[in-house]
Amino acid sequence: MTANPLPAPTLLDQFGRKVDYIRLSITDRCDFRCVYCMSEDMTFLPRDEVLSLEECARLVKVFVDLGVSKVRITGGEPLVRKNALWLFEQIGQLQGLRELVVTTNGSQLESQAETLKKAGVKRINISLDSLDAERFRKITRVGDLNKVLRGIAAAKQAGFDNIKLNTVLMRGVNDDEALSLLEFAIEQELDIAYIEEMPLGEVNHQRDATYVSNDATLKRLQQQHTLVSSAETTGGPARYWRIPGTQTRVGFISPHSHNFCESCNRVRISCKGELFLCLGHDDKVDLMPLLRKYPDDEAPVIAAILDAMRIKPKGHDFDLRRATPAVVRFMSHTGG
Ligand code: SAM
Repeated sequence: MTANPLPAPTLLDQFGRKVDYIRLSITDRCDFRCVYCMSEDMTFLPRDEVLSLEECARLVKVFVDLGVSKVRITGGEPLVRKNALWLFEQIGQLQGLRELVVTTNGSQLESQAETLKKAGVKRINISLDSLDAERFRKITRVGDLNKVLRGIAAAKQAGFDNIKLNTVLMRGVNDDEALSLLEFAIEQELDIAYIEEMPLGEVNHQRDATYVSNDATLKRLQQQHTLVSSAETTGGPARYWRIPGTQTRVGFISPHSHNFCESCNRVRISCKGELFLCLGHDDKVDLMPLLRKYPDDEAPVIAAILDAMRIKPKGHDFDLRRATPAVVRFMSHTGG
């Protein structure tokens, strides 16, 4: 007689949403200082307050054993973390993981794209907010556009299943590039997603002054291209459109104009090991103390994760008009 197999573990929240996707920030440090993401003078965490790579690997395995099938490594800039490749290799080997993906600013891809692909990274998101070198430097405060373009070329060469550009448009800053960025994506046979700017952390401008709705961007693109709405999903918050005759999918991540919370399937882990149940809320559970107190026992961490599902909020409520942001964490802390 064969024993009945144990039911597959699942993380279910109080609203019945299944959580099968984690985003893990492996560093709060970044080699760029994008104006919408960070303030000019950032103080970064001391090393011992950041999860070690071994702790990151351990935590991801726990989540995968709890039924998580997609892991996104992000930051800060994940590829500036020393020995990050080791972590990608560990995660890439996990049984039960369907997809290992990464979000990067592209600055390190020229040298790292091929090894990331070999480590098991399937898809890659590369942030790109301008094709004008001077403007690119202004938005990132320090970035070199040509280096990023060489990184994109290296990623194409490495042969990932998919490469998507992530673009945050800001009124009066780069919104006039919506179309040229799309045309670059079409020419390069890449996907592109437009992300509405979110009020995370206090930056040097008033968020509502630069807000561009994705509806306005869509209208702008439709003046030059036929966009056909598509039901496909990559398991994240983007809604997709296709442009017939091209390889390019156009995604819109619209936290303001089209709230996507009812289908939220993800949680985030900051580089400090804080489990955030929603990008737009401060509710969190600290996993680092448990990882450090019980180095050989996963039960307390598993119990904390299961318990945390009860406090996953129904949705975010970003309000761009507030003078100070409701969420004081920068995106670079939580991980985008
Ligand atoms: N350094 C990597 C990068 O640049 O892609 C990964 C981290 S970054 C925080 C992840 C994504 O978040 C980027 O695409 C970035 O444009 C986006 N992002 C950062 N701050 C944002 C904000 N306040 N609103 C909307 N998107 C933001």
